[in-house]
Amino acid sequence: MASEEEILILDSVRRWLERDVAPYAHDLEQADEYPHAMVAQMKELGLFGATIAPEYGGLGLGASTYAKIVALVSEVWMSLSGIFNSHLIMARCVQSYGTEAQKQKYLPRFASGELRGGIGLTEPDAGTDLQGIRCAAKRDGDHYVVNGTKTWITNSIEGGCIGLLVKTDPTASPPRKGMSMFIAEKGPGFNVTRKLKKLGYRGIDTAEIVFEDYRVHKDCLIGGIEGRGLYNAVGGLELGRINVAARGVGVATAALKQSVAYSQQRKTFGKPICEHQAIQLKLGEMATRVEAARLLVEQAAQAFDRGERCDMEAGMAKYFATEAAAKNADENMRIHGAYGYSCEFDAERLYRDAPLMIIGEGTNEMQRIIIARQLIERNPV
Ligand SMILES: Cc1cc2nc3c(=O)[nH]c(=O)nc-3n(C[C@H](O)[C@H](O)[C@H](O)COP(=O)(O)OP(=O)(O)OC[C@H]3O[C@@H](n4cnc5c(N)ncnc54)[C@H](O)[C@@H]3O)c2cc1C
Repeated sequence: MASEEEILILDSVRRWLERDVAPYAHDLEQADEYPHAMVAQMKELGLFGATIAPEYGGLGLGASTYAKIVALVSEVWMSLSGIFNSHLIMARCVQSYGTEAQKQKYLPRFASGELRGGIGLTEPDAGTDLQGIRCAAKRDGDHYVVNGTKTWITNSIEGGCIGLLVKTDPTASPPRKGMSMFIAEKGPGFNVTRKLKKLGYRGIDTAEIVFEDYRVHKDCLIGGIEGRGLYNAVGGLELGRINVAARGVGVATAALKQSVAYSQQRKTFGKPICEHQAIQLKLGEMATRVEAARLLVEQAAQAFDRGERCDMEAGMAKYFATEAAAKNADENMRIHGAYGYSCEFDAERLYRDAPLMIIGEGTNEMQRIIIARQLIERNPV
């Protein structure tokens, strides 16, 4: 049962999407143009503080309500959800693992959207295997000096800071014991070198960052203790996976809605194509996928909100909902025939956007491995 607060928030997000996003998303995405006006509106809606605790200026929403917001936004334009999702993963690292001084200093600025950012984990040689990163921070008085390269970092051009994963002891064994995370604000030596061209997820900035003798103060080491970086980075993953799963629900739903509408308008052999059994089979499968994905996301989000361990549930939701998005986007394109292949319509955008969710926040290969490991752990013989 949705609370009154949830109904009000979802209604205002729906109205905003209808009025200020839907009419402009297509052109901005095609031009790969950053949606500045929408970001200003997202600040007003409080989206940059959606999951940040109220005592630090956020809305303090639970995962369940937040996932519904993410699904609604992604149904209209998936890229927009990345602008606040990645930002909130960074905020979560600070809220869960930061010192009280770090929370007081950063969370109110994150919540208002004044200081926005994302999370800097991936490097040219290390994505899934984060213990293989090479970016290193060496202590020098009250500062650390960072050298190395991060790539595929979302919000790194338009944002002002990232949660930066580095090695503070590159010789540590196992390597995770020598990994630390910093709140890294832009400054000398923090060089955003190149915006990456992408298949989809356009409009939002994803870039490479080269750190050259970048100095970050020791007070920006999350939690104030070295060696906890990997723990900080993966600690936000359950919520991160639920969020990406919710994006999958949004894209899968958009594909279904487009197909339901188009198949009633398009006629072949004297009748709307929705009356051909081959199309009906597709619609039936697409609708079932959407419902199953939505329920898996809700189940994982509710377990998260109850404070239960939910890595298997979040993994299942992420895996199923993002594969559902890719499958529905593919079927939607087929149902649209040649119009599905045209850049004038949005079927092709959904088709290009869907694969990111299969890769990001732990690839779907890894999700199945996590699910299997959990199954064995929870069912010993
Ligand atoms: C548009 C976009 C935005 C992104 N934004 C960010 C961001 O903001 N911040 C950030 O840090 N990163 C970001 N990423 C990077 C993303 O998180 C990584 O791409 C992802 O973690 C996978 O890493 P990789 O690309 O290095 O693939 P690899 O780790 O090289 O994997 C390659 C393949 O091998 C498989 N594989 C790897 N290890 C195993 C194993 N043990 N068992 C079975 N299969 C395995 C993978 O599933 C995959 O199919 C973004 C990526 C994209 C495309």
